[in-house]
Amino acid sequence: MTDQELQTLVEKVSQESFRQPFCHNARFNQRLKTTGGRYHLQSHDLDFNRLVFEKYGTAELIKVIKHELCHYHLHLAGRGYQHKDLEFKQLLKKTGGSRFAPLLAPVVFQVYQCQQCQKMVKRRRKIDTKKYVCGGCQGKLKFLKTIEA
Ligand SMILES: [Zn+2]
Ligand SMILES: [Zn+2]
Repeated sequence: MTDQELQTLVEKVSQESFRQPFCHNARFNQRLKTTGGRYHLQSHDLDFNRLVFEKYGTAELIKVIKHELCHYHLHLAGRGYQHKDLEFKQLLKKTGGSRFAPLLAPVVFQVYQCQQCQKMVKRRRKIDTKKYVCGGCQGKLKFLKTIEA
């Protein structure tokens, strides 16, 4: 998705979900690491994290766009535009925006393998291989690697 396509999408979402035009600039900003989007109070422009689109797709990106447009339209209208404001919470709910930016940190798994039946076991947390055995054959587990998913 290009910046121009993003701009068009933000304008469309603004018109359809807020019944108001988006008259500023939307672009992807590579410096956003852990948040999905950002509203600039001074320029009224919106930045978005390309990873939201790449990892979660258009539907999730639209939710983040709605979240940022809630800040945008409320701020321009002189209403409560911050996360703690009731008007913000209500508009977010009404338009279906994401409450928080999606968690962009990768999910880490620990991978173990049964020494007897060779079955792979994936766990979010490290396990004590002296205590825990293979669920299938009660064989000994051995730590293989850490993976990101
Ligand atoms: Zn926000
Ligand atoms: Zn086993």
